[in-house]
Amino acid sequence: MSSSTAALTAYEPVIGLEVHVQLLTVSKIFCSCSTRFGAPPNTNVCPVCLGMPGALPVLNRKAVEFATLAAMALNCRINETSIFARKNYFYPDLPKGYQISQYDKPLAEHGFIEIPTSKTADENQKLGTENRELRTATKQIGITRVHLEEDAGKSLHEGFPDSDEKTAIDLNRTGVPLIEIVSEPDIATPEEAYEYLTRLREIILYTGVSDCNMEEGSLRCDANVSVRPRGQKELGTKAEIKNVNSFRFIREALVYEIARQVDVLDSGGKILQETRLYNSNEGKTYSMRSKEQAHDYRYFPEPDLLPLVVDEKWKAEIMRDMPELPELRRVRLVKNYGITEYDAQVLTVSKSLADQFEAAAKAAKNPKRVANLVQGELMGRLKAAGVDIEQSPISMKGIAISADLVESGAISGKMLKDLYDLSFERKKDFSEVYDEEGRPRQSSDTSSLEKIIDEVIGANPAQLEQYRAGKKTMLGFFVGQVMKASKGQANPQIVNELLLKRLQ
Ligand code: ADP
Ligand code: MG
Ligand code: ZN
Repeated sequence: MSSSTAALTAYEPVIGLEVHVQLLTVSKIFCSCSTRFGAPPNTNVCPVCLGMPGALPVLNRKAVEFATLAAMALNCRINETSIFARKNYFYPDLPKGYQISQYDKPLAEHGFIEIPTSKTADENQKLGTENRELRTATKQIGITRVHLEEDAGKSLHEGFPDSDEKTAIDLNRTGVPLIEIVSEPDIATPEEAYEYLTRLREIILYTGVSDCNMEEGSLRCDANVSVRPRGQKELGTKAEIKNVNSFRFIREALVYEIARQVDVLDSGGKILQETRLYNSNEGKTYSMRSKEQAHDYRYFPEPDLLPLVVDEKWKAEIMRDMPELPELRRVRLVKNYGITEYDAQVLTVSKSLADQFEAAAKAAKNPKRVANLVQGELMGRLKAAGVDIEQSPISMKGIAISADLVESGAISGKMLKDLYDLSFERKKDFSEVYDEEGRPRQSSDTSSLEKIIDEVIGANPAQLEQYRAGKKTMLGFFVGQVMKASKGQANPQIVNELLLKRLQ
């Protein structure tokens, strides 16, 4: 790739994302077959999802409710009436020869997601995570539409004795309910695309309508990208990058694809409208098929389904399941618990973690200390162990208990650190390790402390002289020495008092 920075800055990228999210219903969208992932191939099928002639689809009420909830969480307007259509195309994994999808009358439109602007995102990356100031500058990415559709089956190219010659088809996924979330071409950089996807996933996870598991295909993203000379109004020709399986790879694929398009234009070439695939090992995109004529799906309204009507009353019922969404929750956590925005960001990565944190913070004497322990003691250990906060051996409850023990002076900060280390070593929660260690308590046993103090004073005559000559700051030195000699077990306040007396 030869794009110079100068060439890159002469062009402006334009990105629009299409995201498919699988809804967590128990049964499929038009039949009662199970949606369970990982069942033996072709066991979750029936005449409806196999597309047998004469089998009639019946719309799954729960799928509509989940889709509506997600669309409302994405700030969309719900169309009271939406229409299912047949999208006709031939593909081996599509037994009916058409996919039922909403087309010109989708369930919902005119939504948006708020993201940090790329300037902020870039600066954030430079600042590092600790200093990350959220919401200093935000930008709304428009959501064109959210519509309901059924998934297709899956072609299996490996895992069978004759896989080198034949493709196997698993139709378990056929008819699983999806929503497609289409963004406006409002995304200006790969970093913004990454932010958009992160926010989108977070919001959907909070609503609980999907597990957004990319490995299992519950969340899939196609990225459309074009470039245009900076200042030009009309959009350039776009390429669509398909089947990229992580947000990080989507960002990488976009970086590559933007540079590629700039190169083509800069050397006098033309961008072809096409579908491209990303090879993450090479960090490059490859042309898969031209999209010039691939557009005639011969859509027409599905004759076997009535228009879908979501009226005000039903909408209000669905709205009752709307949780507090992550952005607002962060603002409230900062306000209620006196934690920083960064703390709030970390603690709200999932709804369950945020719930746990709030329960712990409410139970603890000092909520701020709970947040500080998460930041100061937990995150680093998680990172070193390569563990997600949700798989932390120390639960939020454990952190609250430890926070209270430090708060009351029962254990020292040093002891807490040691106990946290043991928790990680033994993969056990704080309370368990605390019990296993015989509930160690900070030593306030004055006679053994006095002995240590005498030893420390005896071993440091020069410092003692300085102290007595008026250099009162030497007290800190002695406290430090005594704490060290007690291996951090001594109660610093008592050490202070005893030392003061002894040094007179
Ligand atoms: P298609 O008919 O090819 O699927 P759509 O108009 O439905 O195209 O748009 C699909 C996605 O591509 C949307 O997210 C949209 O914002 C985005 N998009 C459309 N045109 C462009 C363009 N010129 N450059 C980048 N993204 C675009
Ligand atoms: Mg489209
Ligand atoms: Zn079925």
